[in-house]
Amino acid sequence: LSDRLSGIFDKLTGRGALSEADVDAAMREIRRALLEADVALPVVRQFIEEVRREAVGATVVKSVTPGQMVVKIVHDELVKMLGETAEPISLAAAAPVPIMMVGLQGSGKTTTSAKIARRLQNREKKRVLMASLDTQRPAAQEQLRVLGEENGIETLKIVPGQNPRQIAERAMTAARLGGFDVVILDTAGRLSIDEALMTEIADIKKTTNPHEILLVADSLTGQDAVATAKAFDERMNVTGIVLTRVDGDGRGGAALSMRATTGKPIKLIGVGEKADALEEFHPRRIADRILGMGDIVSLVEKAAEHVDAEKAAAMAQKMAKGGFDLNDLKDQLAQMEKMGGLGGLMGMMPGIGKMKKEMAAAGLDDGIIKKQVAIINSMTKTERKKPDILKASRKKRIAAGSGTEVAEVNKLLKMHRQMADMMKMMGRKKGGMMAGLGSM
Ligand code: GDP
Ligand code: MG
Repeated sequence: LSDRLSGIFDKLTGRGALSEADVDAAMREIRRALLEADVALPVVRQFIEEVRREAVGATVVKSVTPGQMVVKIVHDELVKMLGETAEPISLAAAAPVPIMMVGLQGSGKTTTSAKIARRLQNREKKRVLMASLDTQRPAAQEQLRVLGEENGIETLKIVPGQNPRQIAERAMTAARLGGFDVVILDTAGRLSIDEALMTEIADIKKTTNPHEILLVADSLTGQDAVATAKAFDERMNVTGIVLTRVDGDGRGGAALSMRATTGKPIKLIGVGEKADALEEFHPRRIADRILGMGDIVSLVEKAAEHVDAEKAAAMAQKMAKGGFDLNDLKDQLAQMEKMGGLGGLMGMMPGIGKMKKEMAAAGLDDGIIKKQVAIINSMTKTERKKPDILKASRKKRIAAGSGTEVAEVNKLLKMHRQMADMMKMMGRKKGGMMAGLGSM
């Protein structure tokens, strides 16, 4: 996606507000990319609408380039739709806390049951009992038993001939008697949603009153996963989603679809077949994966936060005319501090080596930026505009006001004079400091 987006954005050269045409062009690409990432069509529509609303007009004051700004908006909106933060499994209920796993056949319920049990046992020191309520597939109960054995998790003894509800009741009793903290109920799936399945799991829900009902869904089934999620949620009111097979080049589109369609949090993701291949869901990472552009996004974020390109352009003009006053210096100092100090800002400006040296010679380093700002803050408006009027008595007052010495005030003034001169020179040159900043 990022390659194609930059292609589009190469054509967007204007600055200022994003025009509708800019946004439309970008949205066409984003739409295509989301569909390719297997995001469900209604979700894509909803998403595009939200982004468009955010993007058109208002947003580009701090533009780096309009294109990068759109990318940032898209990314932020993705994160928002994905739920912002990771939500853990809740155990805030009386022990034994029942956790019920639901989903289609082969979605990964049994594997995920063991993964979650292992995690709760290892990380939270909970005693977990697992029970397979799957009477559909002949070897299903045995599959869970083996997983339990391999991972040191207790499983409910298998009693042939019982129906799912009877097993569920037995599991709850055994967990109570055995002093377990958590019971994981691994239910049967079907190849597709049918009434028999829904009745079965609704019945189990009634019997056990689960604290969490986790829908396990295969991220690779794409569009189907969404219809499935919707059906399960409508009937069961699930408390969260576990997306499986997010390993490898898993596309992440399913996450967006599921979340948007059900409004339920994605709590965990399965990233492999092994029992430890379970991770918390991080919306930011998935958004990055969908967009495939971690670097761009962080770059844009940094720049959008800290550099106001329009301000920079205005300043470049001012400097060219030799009008760099102490207010401007203060802005510069404040920006430098935000950008990670002298090194940070300087590193982004072309041809700045000489100036950096001069500034260092004038005694400006990261440690004293704050002090410099304080000195300027202690000056009156007029003093900032016309530093020439600063004679001994004013300097004394300023030093006292900023908790510094007159010598330091002098140093600042000298540095300002040098910078003003230098900037006047650079401002006249094409590709000078501020032009460099603006095109960052
Ligand atoms: P169930 O029918 O819903 O209980 O599904 P299973 O737990 O039996 O899983 C079906 C298959 O998917 C098994 O071969 C699992 O090893 C595999 N599987 C489950 N979760 C993941 C995952 O996150 N990644 C990968 N690669 N395979 C998984
Ligand atoms: Mg199973």
